[in-house]
Amino acid sequence: MLQRPPAEPGMREDEVDTPALILDLDAFEVNLDAMAARLAPTGAKLRAHAKTHKSPVIAGLQRRRGAVGQCVQKVGEAEILAWGGVDDILVSNEVVSPLKLRRLAALNALARVQVCCDAPEAVPLLEEAAAAAGHRLGVLVEIDVGAGRCGVAPGPEAVALAERIAASPHLRFGGLQAYHGGAQHRRRPEERRAAIGGAAEAVRRTLEQLRQRGLDCPIVGGAGTGTFELELETGLWTEIQAGSYVFMDADYGRNEEAPGFRQSLFVLSQVMSAPRGTGRAVLDAGHKALPTDSGLPLVWGRPGLRYVGATDEHGALAVEDAAVPALGEKMRLVPGHCDPTVDRYDWYVGVRGGRVECLWPVAARGAMA
Ligand code: PLP
Ligand code: MN
Repeated sequence: MLQRPPAEPGMREDEVDTPALILDLDAFEVNLDAMAARLAPTGAKLRAHAKTHKSPVIAGLQRRRGAVGQCVQKVGEAEILAWGGVDDILVSNEVVSPLKLRRLAALNALARVQVCCDAPEAVPLLEEAAAAAGHRLGVLVEIDVGAGRCGVAPGPEAVALAERIAASPHLRFGGLQAYHGGAQHRRRPEERRAAIGGAAEAVRRTLEQLRQRGLDCPIVGGAGTGTFELELETGLWTEIQAGSYVFMDADYGRNEEAPGFRQSLFVLSQVMSAPRGTGRAVLDAGHKALPTDSGLPLVWGRPGLRYVGATDEHGALAVEDAAVPALGEKMRLVPGHCDPTVDRYDWYVGVRGGRVECLWPVAARGAMA
């Protein structure tokens, strides 16, 4: 259930209640435009990842700039997007629960939905759901291109699965899902290049074998914010699935020679305690407000202040060569990892020129099924 928003349009940013998820609209729009401009001259399209933003509003802004659709990881996210008007959705993930597959297949009335598969045993489950919904479900074969997460082996195993799907009266072979998650945050550009080089080899080989078997491969999907330039260079990927580029985070900021997207997402927090004589201050945003799976948040624009420790509801601030911030002061924090941070909030507080311009719900917040 949506909580009351922490702000109203027209407020100054320093009046917004905390912790709050702040979206710097100017930086966000620069990011949307930069990705659209980068993809326009290529043959590839953006199928942005909604696991990051969980918002039909943001999906609509991406669509207006040329995105062909959205990726999601969860059926619940697909539902929220479809109800919110997104008409082309790929679950870039495996789904093997009959209940979830029924929900997904039923969405076909609203949107084109496709899903990934990496095992022949899953095919009857997909067929059953598609048959119950009375339409052909598009299925992409996920191949493991080096990340060691999901995916069948590239080559003959992938081709056999594609043939099994293509032969089904209830399914349609939609293409290959080839995402290298492990490569996104490799710090050095050479490491990212080597990983995507290996992924490209796997894709090329699999495409060649599909062709030999007479199978058309409409989509090759994959790539994230950390590597999409490399996938584009190969000319093999037809759909780029970047998500974080709209917001960015402290972890992506640590990639060397990262593409120049701006930090647009922040958590606004407030000094709730500054015990006298200790040189410490405590913020009202701990790891419930800012997940720390990818490291601690950074303090934005306040030299000498460092976020050094998170407990459930408290964030410890070290003060180095700066005045101890006063009780009640508010400051922006850069989340360590944007995706799980967004999932902690009901509302984006859109800010421009120091004023709240809009409130957008994080509509698919908590959609984990
Ligand atoms: N595609 C898939 C399948 C993913 O799992 C992810 C993120 O984990 C992405 C794309 C997007 O990556 P990023 O948010 O780093 O751009
Ligand atoms: Mn992420």
